[in-house]
Amino acid sequence: MSFADLGLCEPIVNAVTAEGYENPTPIQAQAIPHVMQGRDLFGCAQTGTGKTAAFSLPIIHRLMEAGVPSAKARRPIRALILAPTRELAIQIADCILAYSQKTHIRHTLVFGGVSQVPQVRALQRGVDIVIATPGRLCDLMGQGHVDLSHVETFVLDEADRMLDMGFIHDIRHIAERVPKQRQTLFFSATMPREIRELSSSLLRNPVAVEITPVATAAETVEQAIFIVPQSNKPRLLHTLLAESAVTRSLVFTRTKHGADKVLRHLMQAGIRADAIHGGKTQSKRQRALADFKANRLRVLVATDIAARGIDVDGISHVINYDMPVEIESYVHRIGRTGRAGATGIAWTFCDPAERSKLRAIERAIRQPIEIRKLPTLMAPPAPTAVNHEFETREPHRPARPTSGSAAPPRRSQNQSGESIPQTERRAFGQNRPGGSSRRRNYSSR
Ligand code: AMP
Repeated sequence: MSFADLGLCEPIVNAVTAEGYENPTPIQAQAIPHVMQGRDLFGCAQTGTGKTAAFSLPIIHRLMEAGVPSAKARRPIRALILAPTRELAIQIADCILAYSQKTHIRHTLVFGGVSQVPQVRALQRGVDIVIATPGRLCDLMGQGHVDLSHVETFVLDEADRMLDMGFIHDIRHIAERVPKQRQTLFFSATMPREIRELSSSLLRNPVAVEITPVATAAETVEQAIFIVPQSNKPRLLHTLLAESAVTRSLVFTRTKHGADKVLRHLMQAGIRADAIHGGKTQSKRQRALADFKANRLRVLVATDIAARGIDVDGISHVINYDMPVEIESYVHRIGRTGRAGATGIAWTFCDPAERSKLRAIERAIRQPIEIRKLPTLMAPPAPTAVNHEFETREPHRPARPTSGSAAPPRRSQNQSGESIPQTERRAFGQNRPGGSSRRRNYSSR
């Protein structure tokens, strides 16, 4: 089956051809005909399956079919796409830009952590499609800048992640403002009870499309566990990265402080690396991602939330420096490698105290994971290797007092956790007083 066989109009078929897509992916082949007919859809699919095009292409098609207003005419928002993170929202906007290249469809992005002024201006000029994170959209709605009364298609992408991030009230608030007579497309990688409840309250007689059940990434990615005490993780990472096969790796930590520590260690070892997490400004995150995509970095250290939606091909290794807090994150993380049929490798560092979590992961993916013998650990990169913990090697930290004196207070890693959405949103706000780092100006086309 080709894209033309799906009945998509010519400019869209040309655009996907220009993107190098030869045939629809399974979720596209299954979802597009229903979405084109205006049906509601429940899609159980992860990133990497082609789900963005599965909803974007028919949305663009339907907008064009209904007629795009002339350049000067008023443009109401006719499609609203909600995504949990700015990174994912930007990726969706990138796709929509590519797919609507040869049309007069206009779209804009709405997300927090950057000045709202250009976003408000774009909304005032008029756009057909808005791609938004829930928090900023609610803010702008509260200020009277967003009129959702003409929305025809409402998309919730990665709905499970939006719930994890505490956006449920924002989602409900937004859903109340879009017309009841609408098409709703709901995507989630997992189907816990809350997701089933939310979807049944939003969808009407939906078509269900299930692609890539949670276990699939686990089946295609070669996985191994290293049982290693926390204190030896830096050396193990250093040792594994010395392997030439580790060409481009994504290293997951549980907290943003953890990510910064690992980054410092890698930089001390002379490895080209950067980190993305909720404590970094938007521009720094964007730059790190762009550098990683362009192969200027060998390692990107990330927390789960920041890594959500990262779409980078050719990641040779995913390294779980810290075990994920949620079991499902394990599958999300390892799914970042081994994409599009490539072989991927996922290594997980497991402290001996975390073995029960390991068993829970094995139960979830319905297969045992090989426990690999620890390699001979290389010496840490810093010359002052008295203690193998990171703190002793940090350049800016004062030397630890020796026994007898009171140790300086050390911050607990838990204090820096970023799994609470409000914290993430607040942190972004604090960090972003000024302009945006987006590569493109999304406000107009
Ligand atoms: P997604 O699941 O939407 O994040 O898409 C994952 C990746 O697959 C993105 O890099 C898309 O550009 C790419 N992609 C989407 N649809 C196709 C297709 N039909 N053929 C080849 N690549 C695709």
